[in-house]
Amino acid sequence: MVHRPLRLRLSRAALADNWRQLRELCGVETGAAIKADGYGLGAREVLDTLHAAGARDFFVSTWSEAEALGDLPEGARLAVLHGFGPDDAAAAKDIAARPVLNSMGQVRRWRAAFADRSCDLMVDTGMNRLGVAMEELGQLDGLRIDTLHSHLACADEADHPMNAAQLARFVEAKGKVAAKRYSLANSAGVLLGRDYAFDLTRPGLALYGASPVADGAWMFEQVVRAEAQILQLKTLHAGEAIGYGATFVAERDTPVAILNIGYADGYPRNMSGQGHARQGGTMLPLLGRVSMDLVAVDVARGRDLREGDWLALDMVPSLIAKAVGISAYEVLTGLGQRFERVWED
Ligand SMILES: *Cc1c(COP(=O)(O)O)cnc(C)c1O
Repeated sequence: MVHRPLRLRLSRAALADNWRQLRELCGVETGAAIKADGYGLGAREVLDTLHAAGARDFFVSTWSEAEALGDLPEGARLAVLHGFGPDDAAAAKDIAARPVLNSMGQVRRWRAAFADRSCDLMVDTGMNRLGVAMEELGQLDGLRIDTLHSHLACADEADHPMNAAQLARFVEAKGKVAAKRYSLANSAGVLLGRDYAFDLTRPGLALYGASPVADGAWMFEQVVRAEAQILQLKTLHAGEAIGYGATFVAERDTPVAILNIGYADGYPRNMSGQGHARQGGTMLPLLGRVSMDLVAVDVARGRDLREGDWLALDMVPSLIAKAVGISAYEVLTGLGQRFERVWED
């Protein structure tokens, strides 16, 4: 295998601990959202790790994501959140997953194609994204519904009035739709308390170590650590500039390391001037702009660094998100394909 000069170190233990913590918080069956390739970590490895920890219900967005998982381990169940579209019949025939039907069109299509097979259903309780309307719940004859879902729009703000309003509508929907299980909560929904848990939760973000609440309170273990190799060491002389736009000019002679990571790897360009690399506990500040494939760091405080050494990047999703004004979801799902993903225990 060709060497890759940047890697993600991914902790199976932290991932499994986060899942167990979410399960203990609500005390019901706890699934895992593994769409977008497991939020950038690698869906199959996430699935296997959480299956070993005891998770059974997994959620992807599309049938192509379902296909990419390959054969599921014993007892695992997969649901496709985007449902059953006009082009999904062939995939649904081959792949052992349930669609989460989202519209009456999808309901009719599924009934016509797979009358005997069970499915899930999403009801829209106020988010106005996917889901059948509350008024359509009377038209579901002949569906074998495994799980009735809805999705919370504002769970990351515990005091938001939408939460209670959606909960009330979901309870109403539960009274109208016979299903084996009922499921409302994503990660932030789990933190809203038992009333929101029903029979099954669908956390994603918190599993991967990011804080699911708007105020960023830190509650979950870090799963992802990014590291990049030093490509070149040099001295930036007093008065010289570094990087695109020559935005940083050295006041004194400064030893610099050029690292193999950039915004094409998901390290945001807006970290220019505020990010750090780390050698052990020592912070090494970024200098100048983040390039597509490279960053420069000040290694004056570094010890015995050589070309080829690895430095950690401060790529904690919640911290990066806060620094550059994006969400932790975007940090994780933006982790590029050039990283070697190294799973550790
Ligand atoms: C993505 C998604 C989840 C997981 O949400 P997190 O906020 O990442 O916990 C749960 N349910 C649905 C329907 C989703 O689309």
